[in-house]
Amino acid sequence: MAKPAVRYVCTHCGATSLKYSGKCFTCNNWGTIEEEPAACDSSPLSPTAGPLPSVECLSETAASVDHERISTGMQELDRVLGGGLMPASAVLLGGEPGIGKSTLMLQLARHTSARRLLYISGEESTSQIRDRARRLSIRSDHVLLVSEVDLNKIIGIIERDKPDIIIIDSIQTLHTGDFRSSAGTVTQIRECCSALLRETKQRNIVLLVIGHITKSGNLAGPKTLEHMVDTVLQFEGESFQRHRIIRTMKNRFGPTNEIGVFRMDEHGLKEVTNPSELFIAGRTSGVPGNAILAAIEGTRALLVEVQALVSKTNFPVAQRICTGIDSKRISILLAVLEKRLGFGTWGQDVFIKVAGGLKLAEPASDLAVASAIASGLNNTALSPGMVCAGEIGLSGEIRAISNGERRIREAAHLGFDTIILPKENTRELKPAIRKLPLKIIGCSSLQKALEEMKLSA
Ligand SMILES: [Zn+2]
Repeated sequence: MAKPAVRYVCTHCGATSLKYSGKCFTCNNWGTIEEEPAACDSSPLSPTAGPLPSVECLSETAASVDHERISTGMQELDRVLGGGLMPASAVLLGGEPGIGKSTLMLQLARHTSARRLLYISGEESTSQIRDRARRLSIRSDHVLLVSEVDLNKIIGIIERDKPDIIIIDSIQTLHTGDFRSSAGTVTQIRECCSALLRETKQRNIVLLVIGHITKSGNLAGPKTLEHMVDTVLQFEGESFQRHRIIRTMKNRFGPTNEIGVFRMDEHGLKEVTNPSELFIAGRTSGVPGNAILAAIEGTRALLVEVQALVSKTNFPVAQRICTGIDSKRISILLAVLEKRLGFGTWGQDVFIKVAGGLKLAEPASDLAVASAIASGLNNTALSPGMVCAGEIGLSGEIRAISNGERRIREAAHLGFDTIILPKENTRELKPAIRKLPLKIIGCSSLQKALEEMKLSA
């Protein structure tokens, strides 16, 4: 039987099929199927001729792998990269249009300690990039610019100019003539990225790739793109906010979930070195429904304000609207408050907001969210000097969380006088932590914690 000349690939999950369909039957997304040429015939594998690489002992390799990282010149960016750029690594930077991806890359170009940097733009002409650099008052002699979308030419330029770092702005604009499909399709993005990776790994070049994200917040193009690179960084939040948060989604050379915080102004992105002050700045104490969470993002402790507004609904079904937190978690916490503690959440609209545009993913934020809702329902403000953290179980118990002591230190550092934590986390505290000028309260249940906060149903 003849092999089909084309196959159909889902741009979201990478599933393949022989027939076109409007909906992907693997991930259930609509309009994500694209055509691509079928792979060539594969023959059974046989060992290749020529010398094979020798294998090494684990202890030997461990001793030799001690790479010198290249600093980006920006502490916040170095932090999300796990301490700087690794030689021969590939980093993918995703974010909404206009959020500051090109600006960040230009600033990196200016500050980095690398000798030669090549900025390849498929979106803007070199004069446009120069204009932008002038606006940001960036002038650098070690930065080379080129406006090109043809991959084969780009490979030629890399071979000729031998840069230390390459920035691709953006991977969706690149195109190779080896495939019939147009730029931005799954095949093109994947093939262009893998060709660039081959080239840069061989030559010990750092590859930085800008990628656009779709409306749903995923990186445009195949999911495989994220598997191909070593590090995936993503801008969080929206482009109309004054602050920009970059989060590590994946990192082969450092911790994930690390965040870097920047402030956007007319001179570009400025590093924010004390993000806690930013996330609790502008709060008004004495307002019911506001709680301060002692959060951990990556390796850093942060204080974040969680706000809840609870009001009687005018609709048959009450609304639950959340930004910065998963709405399913809110439903669970509301159910726990109602069933275990007797709070009447029924018939009440609940709006939850995490100040500063941060997205909270860790379960330790449960206690702050639940106390914000309880405070809003009760119309009683929480003590302005109190912070909390803890995971809430379905029976209303508070479970132990990670990094309790780091949270306590951050709260004390910012002058808070009370911290409420899970009982487990307050058992074996170091003497240095006990000496800190704040009251540490351990609670084993949500009921107890709310009593400490002077809230009741
Ligand atoms: Zn799919």
